[in-house]
Amino acid sequence: DGVIWLDGELIPWREAKTHVLTHTLHYGMGVFEGVRAYSTPKGPAIFRLKEHTDRLFRSAHILRMEIPYSKEELNEAQKLVVRENGLDEAYLRPMCFLGSEGMGLRAEGLQVHTMVAAWNWPSYMSPEALEQGIKIRTSSYTRHHVNITMCKAKANGNYMNSMLALREALDSGCEEALLLDNEGYVAEGSGENIFIVKGGVLYTPELTSCLEGITRDTIIQFARELGLEVREKRITRDEVYIAEEAFFTGTAAEVMPICEHDGRKIGSGKRGPITEKLQSMYFDQVRGKRQE
Ligand code: PLP
Repeated sequence: DGVIWLDGELIPWREAKTHVLTHTLHYGMGVFEGVRAYSTPKGPAIFRLKEHTDRLFRSAHILRMEIPYSKEELNEAQKLVVRENGLDEAYLRPMCFLGSEGMGLRAEGLQVHTMVAAWNWPSYMSPEALEQGIKIRTSSYTRHHVNITMCKAKANGNYMNSMLALREALDSGCEEALLLDNEGYVAEGSGENIFIVKGGVLYTPELTSCLEGITRDTIIQFARELGLEVREKRITRDEVYIAEEAFFTGTAAEVMPICEHDGRKIGSGKRGPITEKLQSMYFDQVRGKRQE
């Protein structure tokens, strides 16, 4: 139950349906966001809402989709959906998709629909995983051409290899996948950016084959506040094997320690001290508990 915002109106959850000839369902041309609201002393607060909405508009611009609302209207829609559903903590899913007025790749004369849904989706992984870390494996699927040239767009069509990579990782007893780029350098997880720690320096892949994660940006800011050096550079998979610490970041996965990669223990095999510190800063920030 609850309500969903669709094209400017709040409608009951069950009635928020779309036609089987919806263009985006066939060809994947759509853009979306994953956003979280956290419970704070001042009530539910959407973490970095403005940045997520900005990225949605950038993604749409890259895909040549024109969103028929302003950023302010979509920010308000997201706040409204959290409020109207009485949610204290929530995962929000804004999405823009092409309508069912016609088929074919020309995609002419199609309406751009916009929706925002929100629901309670506590942790992407178990609370133990946030403490103990997860096992990951390098995927046989790479970030393909569209991902790489279009990695600034959070687009529906970019997720097929993420899903195949994750399935492959789960089938082999791991919790997440690590995708490489076409040259064999580390790109990102199925829906997360990656960081490694070596000699007290934080490394993360430069923004050539991974999404410009908002959590990634938050963590870089925190690390700099702590006086840690952060370097954005190409990373090889064996650098991850011998890292002192490694972790994923993302709105869904939050700050997730990695304890094993391709059967190799990372560092002590437990959440490392820098990961733990950045993780606690992150949770304090999103829950409005940080002293500025
Ligand atoms: N990489 C991919 C492919 C993603 O889908 C996401 C999730 O949005 C991220 C990284 C992490 O981005 P963010 O921290 O903005 O959620």
